[in-house]
Amino acid sequence: MYFVRKLKLGVSDQLQLLSRAAGKLYSKTLVSFWRVVRKKGLWLKPATLMRWFPNDPENRLHAHSADAVVQSFFASLKSWRERRKTDPNARPPRRRRYYYKIQWKSSAIKVVDGKLRLSNGRGKEPLVIPWVWDTPVWVEIDWDGKQYELRACYKIVDAPPKGEKEEGGVAGVDLGEVHLAVAHDGEQTYIANGRLLRSKRRYQNKLKSTLSRLLARKRRGSRRYRRVLASGRKQLARLNDQIRDILHKQTTRLVSTLYARGVQTVVIGDIRNIRVSATRVSGTESFYGKKANQKIHQMVHGQARHYITYKAERLGMRVVLQDKRYSSQTCPACNKRNKPKGRGHRCGCGFRFHRDGVGAVNLRRTYLGLGPVVGVMASPIGLRFQPHALCSSAGRSHPAV
Ligand SMILES: [Zn+2]
Repeated sequence: MYFVRKLKLGVSDQLQLLSRAAGKLYSKTLVSFWRVVRKKGLWLKPATLMRWFPNDPENRLHAHSADAVVQSFFASLKSWRERRKTDPNARPPRRRRYYYKIQWKSSAIKVVDGKLRLSNGRGKEPLVIPWVWDTPVWVEIDWDGKQYELRACYKIVDAPPKGEKEEGGVAGVDLGEVHLAVAHDGEQTYIANGRLLRSKRRYQNKLKSTLSRLLARKRRGSRRYRRVLASGRKQLARLNDQIRDILHKQTTRLVSTLYARGVQTVVIGDIRNIRVSATRVSGTESFYGKKANQKIHQMVHGQARHYITYKAERLGMRVVLQDKRYSSQTCPACNKRNKPKGRGHRCGCGFRFHRDGVGAVNLRRTYLGLGPVVGVMASPIGLRFQPHALCSSAGRSHPAV
């Protein structure tokens, strides 16, 4: 498995030249490939084109970076051939590129004295970027719509094989509607607060409905229409960024807390097959209709699950998905199913616990095949959102947590 660190680079002459060089090479590859198909009826192999074009016309790129451009073309060709099996509208890669992403393989990547040095071949000026992290195995720089974005890929150490699950701690993680995530590691329960996230999402829904109402009153394509649209998109993009920021910071915090507690296995309650009551979460009437609304809520869950998964795996923990049906209603002490009322989980057998922690306790119990919980459990610890927390996505000058 891999994980990716992203960094915004702005714009520079050097980047423009390199990206332009990659664009020229990509277009040349594309044109030659289709010309041979047209004239000779032959589908060339990547190796042939790499031999034809060992570099871009101005020889600006590292030889391996040039190969990567050719390989990228063949990668999109391959993905089109896969897609067209199911999608009759799939289009082959035909468009020439003025600019194209620049890629560096491990042979051209070095970290020296706090600087990432990306070689462009002997005798040519390398690309140098301030760097406080490890050496990546792959780097690509691409245009993100406003500026250049660097993506550094790292290989992740594989988790220990199955069967050793009793070694190290096990934590159950319940992704919830009220809280972003609740984790239980056998002794402690942690709640990653989701209040701010919910309020942002509610605002997002509200904004969407206001926007569609405003747009409905304008003539399509008119100056005012376009103005409302542009301003709405800007506001929605900002909200999206904020939501992603909260998700990242809260999941990083939760995962590093569990890691510090010696957790080796993270059991996430799988909600993919479970219907979510969407309107209750959003708080507003739906802009999209019920079905789409549901999808959106599941998307945030899915995103949280994805973030927790890769962040845990990055630290060498194993992640297991487990069916979470009834896990939040079942009493951990007597296995009776209770309809939750109010903030606490109360059971006839006398068991009492914070309602949102019960799911995580049960997920862990089921995974380990444990019997009933006995005794009094420690009350949950809340992990509040800290806007200034650092995580790998937080920006250019911050080391990863
Ligand atoms: Zn009970």
